[in-house]
Amino acid sequence: MRGKSQRKVYLDHSASTPVDERVLDAMMPWFTRNYGNASSLHGPGRRAAQAIEDARETVARTLGCQPNEIVFNSGGTEGDNHAIRGGARTMRQAGQGAHLVSSPVEHSAVGETLAQLADLQGFTHTLMPVDRYGRVSAEAFRAACRDDTVLASVMLANNEVGSLQPVAELARFARERGILFHTDAVQAAGQLSLNVADLGVDLLGISGHKFYGPKGVGALYCRNGIALASNQTGGSHEEGRRAGTHNTPLIVGLARALELAGQEREQNVAHFRRMRDQLIDQVLLRVPDAELSGHPVERLPGHASLVLDGVDSSALLMHLDINGVAASGGSACKTGNPEPSAVLLAMGYSKRQAMGGLRLTVGHSTSEKDIDYAVDVIANSVEKLRRLAVVA
Ligand code: PLP
Repeated sequence: MRGKSQRKVYLDHSASTPVDERVLDAMMPWFTRNYGNASSLHGPGRRAAQAIEDARETVARTLGCQPNEIVFNSGGTEGDNHAIRGGARTMRQAGQGAHLVSSPVEHSAVGETLAQLADLQGFTHTLMPVDRYGRVSAEAFRAACRDDTVLASVMLANNEVGSLQPVAELARFARERGILFHTDAVQAAGQLSLNVADLGVDLLGISGHKFYGPKGVGALYCRNGIALASNQTGGSHEEGRRAGTHNTPLIVGLARALELAGQEREQNVAHFRRMRDQLIDQVLLRVPDAELSGHPVERLPGHASLVLDGVDSSALLMHLDINGVAASGGSACKTGNPEPSAVLLAMGYSKRQAMGGLRLTVGHSTSEKDIDYAVDVIANSVEKLRRLAVVA
């Protein structure tokens, strides 16, 4: 399998995607020819400002909101921080309380932000239980909400196991109770339809590099009427909600990528589903004791995740990499961390099982041959690792 002509199969699109050539084409002039600062009053500055407003309209159209409800930022992490920190502080200042509700399967950008608000700023938070698929229920949400709850944060789709959360149902209850509802839609963008009115959320974040746009740029939807304090102080960019010079090329790229993802979603999703299902079926067939993690149906179209009992996922990822297969053991941010997956533990898996999470996420270019090759490599690697574990 090794050698010069080794096949390379990238199955880590949930970690990041390549930039679409059409996105790159849209961005290039804003790096090299039209480099004015969008806050400047001269022609080059005004042209950059116009490009940003055009991008804002495109993003707003895709999300079904008003352009002034979009705040451009540096990506998913910043959006989560801004929504939660800003929303929680605004509500507390208004005397609404200081209690936050979330789930134990959120991305660390949410989890760590909640923990810091609790540790340093006097907030309290409740983490709802999740089921075997990593999903929260409306009952658990109702039980977790209190009279002093000011903000809830529940992701639309889980990065590690791909399960979708019943966000519209939860957000409806939150709205009735006057609780701000934030959803991290970083993994969902490009795969699911994201209409903020249908979802009924107040705050929603996306990140460019998950849907064939550039890294380091994102957008946060912030419903009109919510005075979201800026996380960083400085200029009055983004109507005082996010200080710092606009990154014109990246913002143009984000909008173009989101536009293309919307226009081509139907065929992309059909392809993702086909590839994902082949992957899941073949791994379950070829690898003894492999189990699908996350919900079997209510899951991202391009997301396959498995628990491989008795396998250390870091060792497996190395084996796969040596053989040209790029995958992930849970979330990319945890790669190299030998701790069991906190997400799998919260879903009720044992510590031993939670060491053996494997995430395989397909993209536009994934082919059947890629799947066949990757499954061969996975089956051989798991067999080798299990044999070594017995000998040791
Ligand atoms: N939220 C989720 C669900 C993610 O999967 C990620 C990245 O993997 C992030 C947030 C962070 O996004 P970014 O890489 O843009 O900071």
